[in-house]
Amino acid sequence: MCLAFRSGTLFISATTPKNSRSVTGDKLTDDHLLRTMQAMPKIELHRHLEGSIRLSTMVEVAKEYGIEMPEYDIEMLRPFVQMMPTEPHNSQHFLAKFMTIRQFFLSDTIIRRMTREVVADAAADNIKYLELRFTPRALANIIDCPFEDVIHWVAAEAALAVDQYGTQVRLIVSVNRHESIEIAERTLDAIIAINSPYVAAVDLAGNEKDFPAEPFQDFFERAKGTGLGVTVHAGEWGELENIRTAVAVLHADRIGHGVRAWEDMALCDWLIERGVVLEVCPTSNVHSGAVRDWAQHPLSQLYRHGVITTLNTDDPLVSNITLTDELVRVVEHMGFTVHDIKQHMLNAAKAAFLPPQEREILVSQFESALGIIPS
Ligand SMILES: [Zn+2]
Repeated sequence: MCLAFRSGTLFISATTPKNSRSVTGDKLTDDHLLRTMQAMPKIELHRHLEGSIRLSTMVEVAKEYGIEMPEYDIEMLRPFVQMMPTEPHNSQHFLAKFMTIRQFFLSDTIIRRMTREVVADAAADNIKYLELRFTPRALANIIDCPFEDVIHWVAAEAALAVDQYGTQVRLIVSVNRHESIEIAERTLDAIIAINSPYVAAVDLAGNEKDFPAEPFQDFFERAKGTGLGVTVHAGEWGELENIRTAVAVLHADRIGHGVRAWEDMALCDWLIERGVVLEVCPTSNVHSGAVRDWAQHPLSQLYRHGVITTLNTDDPLVSNITLTDELVRVVEHMGFTVHDIKQHMLNAAKAAFLPPQEREILVSQFESALGIIPS
């Protein structure tokens, strides 16, 4: 596989990996289960815009903007941006997909279109409330524009998409651990300058293994002081102590992934005491090598122990899934009942980064739609 950015074009070699034309993912065997999960009104709290764009849109963008490809074909592009069944499941392969994806954010029109389509796809999957996160630094990678512009484009387009598709959307703005504090501070300045009611929280993403979170303490304190929610990717690839640091030092309300918490029962109890919510993304965890396989995934143990867990896709494009697919897999692999899935939707409603009154409305709407009697 050869991939390089040359003279303003993305060059993808004609050599594609084996099985590049096969569709990734486990087959969904139980039609009734699939229909039940599709029909269920859903909430997703952890989805990256950059990892959610449509393959068909990427091919159209490549054609329109002269990104060089041997064939303008979805199956040609797929292995460069999506985890394939035959490739190793590890962070290097998983993160490599984003190196390609980043090459496609070539104009404000594209970023707006991708935002709109992500909301449309969520609505088609019967997601009623979506928290969509994006990294301004990644979207501004090529066009080199102020972060204010990127946040404005995504927020403005999200607002239009809410009207058009009916799914409620809030935005989470991500900064990366492996990038400078200065970029994070500039991102927060931009959020404050834009002052969009759609921007609800900030997130720390990126290389958790090699870059500590502590240098971002002031950033998160300042964000929290402006009323933004805080979520932090931790306990995915890095040490489980990163989870404690995210809560104790960065004041995280929610943890992205946090699956390694199960290695320390005292930490699980500590999370329960504080009401910290885990945004679990099981397929992503398998694809990125955070867990070895579905049998090793601790979601079921965390949930049954009482840790507040929610179910999410992380990156539907990269993992080739919808939230419906994710729920089906959780039922098939974890032995969850439909009631367990509903409980996860309710957990997500209660953890939404919304003002308290709006959150209460969301919770009661979901209790009623899911047929759950309020406790
Ligand atoms: Zn994530």
